[in-house]
Amino acid sequence: MSRDMMPHFELYQPDTLENAVDLARRIGKGAWLLAGGNDSLDWFKDRHKRPTAVIDMSGIASLKGIRETEEGLEIGALTTLAEVESSAIVREKYSLLSTAAGRVASPQIRNAGTLGGNLCQDTRCWYYRYGVSCYRAGGITCYADTPEGQNREHCLFGASRCVAVSPSDTATASVALDAKMVIHGPDGERIVPAEEFFIGPSKDITRMNVLKPGEVLTAVRYPKAWAGAKFYFEKVTDRNTWDFALVSVAAAMVLEGDVIRNIRLVCGAVECVPRRLKGSESVAMGRKKAEDVAIEAGKAASHGATPLQFNQYKVPLMENLVRRAIRDA
Ligand SMILES: Cc1cc2nc3c(=O)[nH]c(=O)nc-3n(C[C@H](O)[C@H](O)[C@H](O)COP(=O)(O)OP(=O)(O)OC[C@H]3O[C@@H](n4cnc5c(N)ncnc54)[C@H](O)[C@@H]3O)c2cc1C
Ligand code: SF4
Repeated sequence: MSRDMMPHFELYQPDTLENAVDLARRIGKGAWLLAGGNDSLDWFKDRHKRPTAVIDMSGIASLKGIRETEEGLEIGALTTLAEVESSAIVREKYSLLSTAAGRVASPQIRNAGTLGGNLCQDTRCWYYRYGVSCYRAGGITCYADTPEGQNREHCLFGASRCVAVSPSDTATASVALDAKMVIHGPDGERIVPAEEFFIGPSKDITRMNVLKPGEVLTAVRYPKAWAGAKFYFEKVTDRNTWDFALVSVAAAMVLEGDVIRNIRLVCGAVECVPRRLKGSESVAMGRKKAEDVAIEAGKAASHGATPLQFNQYKVPLMENLVRRAIRDA
């Protein structure tokens, strides 16, 4: 398979959001939105995705930057992961997000990769990336969910024909921070909570979020309610230099003395969407931040898990990450 040449496509470089949305509407199905290109160019070079037109959004200034607002913090979707990681205001108020952004891939990828691209990236399932015709690619089988399938990285929850997981580290943190996604499309603006932005295969097996063709994620809003809370992010990988999560946890907690007054717990790489752990949250809510509560909440995290042939290890891993999140946040 040749990886040195990309198939031909038309390239558009609009300098306003309105032009980008208009182009996407007029081109229709064959249009591809390009941000930092880390994910997109791999798809094009492998020839598994062949858009007829690419809309490069890197020249749209209004989609970049980190702004404090009355409600909290707004980060433009084209802001790079490196900027999110190093921003003083993000570090001070939402260190969960800066830590998660800093754990994405390698410095080179974070310099070019954007927050929006990281949130909107497709799944990394080996089979799908290799270009096989599985369910997600429009075929009639799932290669990962077979007795011999390589499913060590795949899901514990939410399987529906596809058993792939969400790979995004900033997605896990954004759901924990109760972020709001700002979307622009041909019908104007709509705001969607991060928790509802990501969708699993039972809703639509061909995409991983609610964006309809022609819609652009323009910004992500992080609410004041969670600014300066206690945070914990941990990501377990095969290699610590750069790698996708085998399991990750993002926790945001408000304490009154040593009592947990509010908490949001989310695990990454266990479902096709960042998995909010409402059962663990209700175990911990209103109780002292102590080891026995952490253990109980950890056990609750894996309730309902249905491991595949080679990913049973994710169950105790998930339980321990949640335990550590509550104990060490
Ligand atoms: C070697 C390697 C290691 C990696 N490791 C990690 C990791 O550990 N953790 C992790 O989270 N990620 C990891 N990634 C994924 C990487 O971080 C993402 O691919 C990257 O952040 C995508 O950002 P981008 O701006 O380059 O997106 P692009 O490649 O430009 O876009 C990605 C996708 O999102 C869509 N998109 C982009 N921006 C928007 C927008 N504003 N509105 C609507 N749609 C949009 C594009 O159409 C495309 O489908 C890794 C990638 C590589 C290549
Ligand atoms: S897990 Fe999903 S993406 Fe992977 S082979 Fe199965 S259907 Fe395809």
